[in-house]
Amino acid sequence: MKTYQLFCLSLLVCGGVAYKTVAGDHEPKPDISPEFKKVEAVAIEVLDSLQAISFKEQREYCGWIVDDGTDIFATKAVPGDESSCTVDYPEDSIVLLASYHTHGQHNPDYWSEAPSNDDIESDFDEEIYGFVSTPAGRIWVIDPYQEMLFQICGEGCVTADPNYDSSEYPPIPESGTPEEINELTDS
Ligand SMILES: [Zn+2]
Repeated sequence: MKTYQLFCLSLLVCGGVAYKTVAGDHEPKPDISPEFKKVEAVAIEVLDSLQAISFKEQREYCGWIVDDGTDIFATKAVPGDESSCTVDYPEDSIVLLASYHTHGQHNPDYWSEAPSNDDIESDFDEEIYGFVSTPAGRIWVIDPYQEMLFQICGEGCVTADPNYDSSEYPPIPESGTPEEINELTDS
């Protein structure tokens, strides 16, 4: 996406790209650039602020993390439904850095402790990071540059639904390829 490319060039960091050049020497990791850390901090803050309302209303909330040239911030979250959320693109002058969305409350019939196949596909298509908070209070980042997903923050990191009981479910890896994560969510 054009605007994102500009962002990358202006920062000259693009952690995902940098890691790719050293593939073989290191396991993939989340981007550790200061710019990514800022985006991550904004994502954690906005997602935490949405967990309680998302549980209460039993629906997802979503939005963008953007750079308006002065600051990096989250756009106002919009409500979705129980298992999806759609938000309009911000105006052209704003650079899109990441998407974010909550997964709402714990539902024993619909396990949602990891990003869904659709989540991964949409952030890969946009070529932006995607941050997802889960009922157990985890946050994942979908990283289209390394084609990996990482838990940047584990269970209870942000507000969690007390109805989620981790002992009822198999352990969840801290990272995985899209295929590995799809297997988790399909089972
Ligand atoms: Zn999702």
